[in-house]
Amino acid sequence: MNHLERKTLIVGNWKMHLSVHQSSLLVHRLTERIKVHRNVEVILAPSMLALQPLSLEMDHRRFQLCAQDAYPKDEGGYTGEVSFAMLGSLVQYCIVGHSARRIYFGETLEMVRDKVEAAVRNGISPIVCIGETKQDRDAGQSRQVIHDQLTTALMNVTSRDLEKVVLVYEPVWAISTFDGIIAKPDDVAKAVAYMRMQVRELYGERAAEKVSVLYGGSVNEHDVRSYLEVPGVDGALVGAASLNYHQFAAIVDEAYRIRIKAEA
Ligand code: PEP
Repeated sequence: MNHLERKTLIVGNWKMHLSVHQSSLLVHRLTERIKVHRNVEVILAPSMLALQPLSLEMDHRRFQLCAQDAYPKDEGGYTGEVSFAMLGSLVQYCIVGHSARRIYFGETLEMVRDKVEAAVRNGISPIVCIGETKQDRDAGQSRQVIHDQLTTALMNVTSRDLEKVVLVYEPVWAISTFDGIIAKPDDVAKAVAYMRMQVRELYGERAAEKVSVLYGGSVNEHDVRSYLEVPGVDGALVGAASLNYHQFAAIVDEAYRIRIKAEA
C-alpha cells in the first residue's frame, strides 16, 4: 500500500483554552486562511462547551470536529460527564488517552481501552495518544510503555473497526506543558515503526499499513515538515501552536505543500 492512500491529518488540541467566543473567532480566522484539500483533514478539538456552537457555524468541508475526552458509559448517573453516545451526532473524532488525562486524572490503561471501545461503538474515531514519560525514557522503558498502552487500548477493537482508529505517538517529554523537549525525527521514526509493528502483530500486514499514525509534541510551523517527512507519519497533533491562527494555518500549509509534491 502506498502511504498516499492514507490521508494527512492535522489536529489542533486547544486543551483548556479559549472561551466559546474566542473559539468562534479562531475558527473564523482559520476559515479565511485554510484551503480545502481532499487528502488533508484539519481537525479541531475545542473545549466541550464550544463543540455545539462551532458545529453550527463552521464550514464542514474545511474542518472536522473533535472532542478532547468523553465518558465510556453511554448514559447513567455519572454526574458531570458527557458520553461518546451524546457526542455521536456532533463530532467525528475524540482524543482518547491524552497524557494530561493519564497524568492529571489518573486515567488507567483499562479506562483508555473502554473509551476507545465506546468511541468506536458510537461512530466516533478515537485519536489514541500513546507515549512514554521522561522517567520511562530515562529508565529504558519506552518500548514497554508504548507496547502496553497500544495493546490495551486496542484490546476490544476488531480489525474492521481499526479503520476508524487514529494512533498518535506523543511522548510526554515532548509536550509543551510537560518537559517540552524537541523530539528528533529519528526517534519519532523508530517509535512509529514500533507502533506499526505492534499493529501488524495484532491485526496483520494490511492493517499495519492502513492505520493512521500521527506525531504530537511541541510541533510548530518550523519543524512540522521534519515530522511529516518521517516514513509512516501521517500528520500531527498540535497543542500550543494550534491556538495561534498564523502558526496553525502555516502548519496546515506545510502539510498541503508536502502532500501536493508527493502526489505530483
Ligand atoms: C498536546 O497537548 O497534545 C500537544 C501536542 O501539545 P503541544 O503541541 O503544546 O506540545
